[in-house]
Amino acid sequence: MNVLVINAGSSSLKYQLMNPETGDVSAKGLCERIYIDGRLTHKVGDKKVVKDIPMPSHSEAIEAVLDILVDPVDGVIKSVDEIDAVGHRVLHGGMKFSDSCIIDDKCIKAIEDCIPLGPLHNPANLMGIRACQAVMPNTPQVAVFDTAFHMTMPPKAYRYAIPTEYFKNDDIRRYGFHGTSHKYVARRTAELVGKKEFKMVNCHLGNGSSLSAIKDGKCMDTSMGLSPLAGVPMGTRSGDIDACVVQFICNKYNMSVDDCLTMLNKKSGMLALSGVSSDFRDLSEGVDNGNENCQLALDKFCYEVAKYVGAYAAALNGIDVLTFTAGVGENDHVVRASVCEYLGFMGVKLDPEKNKVRGKEMLISTPDSKVQVWVVPTNEELMIAQDTRDLVLAARK
Ligand code: AMP
Repeated sequence: MNVLVINAGSSSLKYQLMNPETGDVSAKGLCERIYIDGRLTHKVGDKKVVKDIPMPSHSEAIEAVLDILVDPVDGVIKSVDEIDAVGHRVLHGGMKFSDSCIIDDKCIKAIEDCIPLGPLHNPANLMGIRACQAVMPNTPQVAVFDTAFHMTMPPKAYRYAIPTEYFKNDDIRRYGFHGTSHKYVARRTAELVGKKEFKMVNCHLGNGSSLSAIKDGKCMDTSMGLSPLAGVPMGTRSGDIDACVVQFICNKYNMSVDDCLTMLNKKSGMLALSGVSSDFRDLSEGVDNGNENCQLALDKFCYEVAKYVGAYAAALNGIDVLTFTAGVGENDHVVRASVCEYLGFMGVKLDPEKNKVRGKEMLISTPDSKVQVWVVPTNEELMIAQDTRDLVLAARK
């Protein structure tokens, strides 16, 4: 089966054509500057093609993707009919979606209803869906939500301790994000440890970071909230912060709440603390050059990640497995070592040699560690392709 995986942003669209059984990616790429002018970057294996193509809307971007996929020179399929299904990443499924779903009018209406919860992403995701429907009307499409995996959280984890009317009337609660990644890592870890029933904390540490407490494959708690701003500090996000900080800054600097939130989302986190960069590679370089602010940024990050792991270990009454994934989690052995050092009290012991691994599946704890620690590279596209395959095959029956 060939599944086209689409991740549509407001002015960009990423794609991968993949086989959900093997995980093989036959082609992938990116459309950028949609609505401005339009540029397609297309990769097949090591070969990369860049083309300037007018993209006045997402429809032209999808058309450009389909054109290049069937191109006699740069393409990988003979006809668009060889695409069996399309899987779309959708940011916010609100309380309406606890799983992926086949896209029909009802599903589209529900994604529209979630726009107030995901005002930046859901409209862009819908544009990608509508563009695909327009150019490939007979191909089944599936929506895979970043929030869905977290819908198994109990009320004590997802409710905010604020007046009930905001929950009842406005669906204000913890939702959590990176759900497709957490789900992939939870499933893969179950295969790696050879059992289904166990307790784990997954640390998705990238430019955006979140942790999830997972029991028997189900999410019990997660660090992001109504929006991806909550939880540990990130590349440019502050993470958890006292709401009175917003009040203070808005009042003192005559700033709007929206502008203050932009500051907390885009100018905070590692970027703000280091004064150098949001990229962990730059922070490591800064530390090597004796930059104390870079050291503080990394110290803060590892400290807060470790605190969340400790909190989730308490929430789950102990954990069997700790996993690291995403750009930082998969590659930064210094971050992993520092986080695990805090967790020594729980019997977490890293093997320093194995911990040097980058971007590969690996058990990095010692045999006598009370908690198995794994690096499990995430694969959100594969998870989207597999959910898409499962739903499309089920609908055919
Ligand atoms: P992601 O959001 O998962 O794509 O992760 C992006 C983050 O991963 C960036 O902040 C990078 O600094 C970080 N990253 C990528 N490669 C490395 C590496 N080799 N060492 C440390 N951090 C890395």
